[in-house]
Amino acid sequence: MQWTIGRVKITGITESETVGSTRFILPQAGNEEIRKLPWLIPHFATEEGRLKMSIHSLVVETPDHRIVVDTGLGNDKEGRGVPTWNNRKGPYLETMAAAGFPVESIDTVLCTHLHVDHVGWNTRLVDGRWVPTFPNARYLFGRTEYEHWRDHSDTADKVAVFTDSVQPIVDAGRAELIASDASLTDEISLIPTPGHSPGHMSVLISSEGEEALLTGDVAHHPCQMAHLGWSSTADSDPAQSAETRMALFSRFADTPTLVIGGHFSAGHIKRDGDGFKFVALG
Ligand SMILES: [Zn+2]
Repeated sequence: MQWTIGRVKITGITESETVGSTRFILPQAGNEEIRKLPWLIPHFATEEGRLKMSIHSLVVETPDHRIVVDTGLGNDKEGRGVPTWNNRKGPYLETMAAAGFPVESIDTVLCTHLHVDHVGWNTRLVDGRWVPTFPNARYLFGRTEYEHWRDHSDTADKVAVFTDSVQPIVDAGRAELIASDASLTDEISLIPTPGHSPGHMSVLISSEGEEALLTGDVAHHPCQMAHLGWSSTADSDPAQSAETRMALFSRFADTPTLVIGGHFSAGHIKRDGDGFKFVALG
């Protein structure tokens, strides 16, 4: 998976892909409902109406920077609510290196938000300690997002995520807390998109007249473009999440802007009746 936006290159690094078993995250997206949205098939759902989703990082290369957006689940993590997210031994770092991105080459890590499947590879386990995976990177966390999870990680699984994948970055002096609407480089700026989490941010890339939007988890799946009210069980504020979808999709619908999800691949947003649909790139 690779896309070019002017002088910026975006590469997808997949950590895991799933088909179905998504009721826990999108309870309204049953097979029957999904089959009523034929534009989802085959890229984003199967003929039977099961959702296709992935957990991935996006490596964004500008003329001056090499940025990893979101860092998946990570290896060796424990205390996760989803059983298969514990004690993983996946080849993520090997995949990254094979794609041309050894960990040393990354200068920036950006987390759209601080949920379990977006911060995992911030750290790795070395001699029993969690250390920054990307030794030369500054890690950018939204200030609102960071302060929320610092103060309100109130269940065991959330404490585990913060303790093994966020706090060690701060302790190592690698974290920078940024505004949700910050500009990172000439090409990259952030759009505040709260609702899924309190400080959630999306990433806008602009170069030489071309644009891409990395939505993060504004939507977990393109079916939420047709059903803006289908908030996910992980959304901290379901009503705000739906409002954010309406605002963001309205802004980018029927434009040439390439849209890439936190859990789905690239396409374009189109207006469709009262809502929107998503047209895969190919
Ligand atoms: Zn996610």
